[in-house]
Amino acid sequence: MPAHDFDLITIGAGSGGVRASRMAARYGARVAIIDHDRIGGTCVMRGCVPKKLLVIGAHFADAFEDARGFGWEPGRPGFDWPTLIANKNRELERLESVYRKLLGDSGVELIEDTASLKGPHTVEVAGRTLDAAHVLIATGGHPVMPRIPGIEHAITSNEALDLARLPDHVAIVGGGYIAVEFAGIFNALGARVTMIIRAPNILRGFDEEVRHTLAGEMEKKGITIRRECVVESIDGGAGGYRLDIEGGDAIEAGLVMYATGRAPNTGGLGLTAAGVETDGGGAVVVDGFSRTTAPSIYAVGDVTDRINLTPVAIAEGAAVAETLFNGNPVRMDHDDVPSAVFSQPPVATVGLTEAEASEWNEVDVYISRFRPMKHTLGGRDEMAMMKLVVDRATDRVLGCHMVGEEAPEIIQGLAVAVKCRATKAQFDATLGIHPTSAEEFVTMSEKRPGRTAG
Ligand code: NDP
Repeated sequence: MPAHDFDLITIGAGSGGVRASRMAARYGARVAIIDHDRIGGTCVMRGCVPKKLLVIGAHFADAFEDARGFGWEPGRPGFDWPTLIANKNRELERLESVYRKLLGDSGVELIEDTASLKGPHTVEVAGRTLDAAHVLIATGGHPVMPRIPGIEHAITSNEALDLARLPDHVAIVGGGYIAVEFAGIFNALGARVTMIIRAPNILRGFDEEVRHTLAGEMEKKGITIRRECVVESIDGGAGGYRLDIEGGDAIEAGLVMYATGRAPNTGGLGLTAAGVETDGGGAVVVDGFSRTTAPSIYAVGDVTDRINLTPVAIAEGAAVAETLFNGNPVRMDHDDVPSAVFSQPPVATVGLTEAEASEWNEVDVYISRFRPMKHTLGGRDEMAMMKLVVDRATDRVLGCHMVGEEAPEIIQGLAVAVKCRATKAQFDATLGIHPTSAEEFVTMSEKRPGRTAG
């Protein structure tokens, strides 16, 4: 008789949990996965996927306008928000059923209820007490909002994805990934957008040139960015909301959305009973193999608050399955993780920012700003920016950054080059594909010395 009911119990059926569970089952492990919400997790149900569908929908607004310069007479296309939301929801249902099928086909038992740990090998769920050789915590995170008077009037990205109608004026508090993405969606689809950020600029942590360029492009599109601006309280009325700003000013809006960060989902999990430590922010503490302070328990994805991106969670989950069930210990590599912000225009980046690179070495910086060809006849006043950060001593390209159409698609390819430690000379030796925006990355010649932030 086996010593445990399962070889692996995974709590959380999001990207990381599902990948680890399916791989473990493929390696012969007996696996159960538990979730009390929709199968697919944040990315598929409340994040990347529905957001990207709305971003694609929003792009048509510009496309119809730009087509005129190329001879099209598109008439007056109408936009229906409920249709977009209904179609998006249908796609999410399809994806959820795909996830269920993938788990079933892999032989993973799916338990749809709330789990809690009773010990390092024991999980309680749906009135059952289950015993596992290993437990994987992959419970993700949730949006957090500051506790100010009237905060109950504000929505988060969860609700923004399912609004019954598009409001006339949206106030978005925060300047991170989610805030700039939703600002772009709402603005393109016809709402007036005011972003309220407490810092001098959006997208803290990104390269300064990226932050500056994107903020400028968003403002050109009509988005108002209120900088160094702190909301003290929110008042609700029949016609909308009033946000009282520190210093006496006020902003009125029909909808208030907060995108002020996310926190790990650890409440009620019974981590203490199992000997799993968390850090000051509530994230599960793990080592390079995603192992927690309880040796039989691992954790991956947003609940560990390392790099909160879907492909990272998937890779962490895969590494755990390799380590535990394929006799192949894999330490997750968190270096040079590319990422994109699906703003309008989008941002994508891989490697170090100029400020980060300049802190430890002398670097040279190459920048190209240009008007993409599509906008010459289209008439749109939108610029693209590309930037390379190069280590002066070794010639290695340490960072690639871009703001402009197709940036995520372009940077994905360059991420391979950065991961392979390509040099600027190798970028230069690569021929461009003409005429494209991407070719700029292999033709940049004017350099300036790098500088640290501040
Ligand atoms: P971020 O951490 O990216 O940004 C939070 C923003 O809220 C910052 O601008 C921050 O300001 C501001 N903020 C924080 N607290 C307050 C406060 N009390 N009052 C006012 N402003 C505040 O969080 P998001 O919610 O945008 O996204 C969460 C994570 O989800 C991201 O970090 C990313 O990992 C992931 N994500 C990735 C996406 C992608 O890959 N395309 C898309 C969406 C999310 P300040 O800069 O001053 O700290």
